[in-house]
Amino acid sequence: MANTSTGNPVTPLPARRRRCPICGKPAMPRHQPFCSARCADIDLGRWLNGNYSIPADEPPEEEPEGGER
Ligand SMILES: [Zn+2]
Repeated sequence: MANTSTGNPVTPLPARRRRCPICGKPAMPRHQPFCSARCADIDLGRWLNGNYSIPADEPPEEEPEGGER
């Protein structure tokens, strides 16, 4: 899927107040989407300790070259 860039600048999201997913406080622009670096750290820790939601999309095994025996 080639995404042809039309030279459209990626406009930042409108100034919408997000809430910290950790504690629910209004997120600070400095630590978005968290309210503080601490909450960001907590979220990171969860990621590291929790299960990664990596899609099982392994590349197909390459067949060995040459079918000669
Ligand atoms: Zn927070």
